[in-house]
Amino acid sequence: AARKLFVGHEVDFLKGVVGMDGLPPDDRAEVCFAGRSNVGKSSLINALTGRKGLARASNTPGRTQEINYFTLGADHYLVDLPGYGFANAPVDVVARWQALLKSYLSGRVSLRRAFVLIDFRHGIKPVDDEIMTLLDRSAVTFQAVLTKADKVKDKDKDRILAQVRQGLSKHPAAYPEIVLTSSEKGDGIATLRAIIAGLS
Ligand code: GDP
Repeated sequence: AARKLFVGHEVDFLKGVVGMDGLPPDDRAEVCFAGRSNVGKSSLINALTGRKGLARASNTPGRTQEINYFTLGADHYLVDLPGYGFANAPVDVVARWQALLKSYLSGRVSLRRAFVLIDFRHGIKPVDDEIMTLLDRSAVTFQAVLTKADKVKDKDKDRILAQVRQGLSKHPAAYPEIVLTSSEKGDGIATLRAIIAGLS
């Protein structure tokens, strides 16, 4: 059933949202994906949905500050939050985005879980930690998803995983299970699908 939810035409881009008044009705369970720009979020969403180019199409510069909604089968929304941590983002753009993010996270009753994407090579960075603190304060359960696992050498994995576990332990809203993924190789994709399908 999990697989059936996400194949082909059952996943569709719904809309880009720039303010709370643009959110669709909260009649489906939803999950959101957050992560630093370049963490591999578009690639992961594409792998997850089996639709190449779906997330990338909504990731063009003019739309990066939008909250992008996708329908996932009949029962779920997948929400793609803008990438954060741009080095040269204008202050007013960042402030506007943070305000929308806060409103969304604290006000969206149908939000079941946030997935915070972390580049497995780099572990948790200060900007990731800031998002996690915001999730704590908004009482949104979040789960760390490590990306680009294929790029990490086996000898480095335990050390980085320990850093991530240590980082998560400071966050009351963190779900302890860490999902290791590679959009390139397909690792962890089925696990992530099953997690989402199990949230209602
Ligand atoms: P976004 O900015 O977070 O949406 O990141 P993208 O999905 O555009 O990915 C950023 C870069 O990382 C691109 O060059 C991708 O090809 C690469 N990338 C993403 N996921 C993986 C992965 O699992 N393995 C490898 N090797 N590269 C990846």
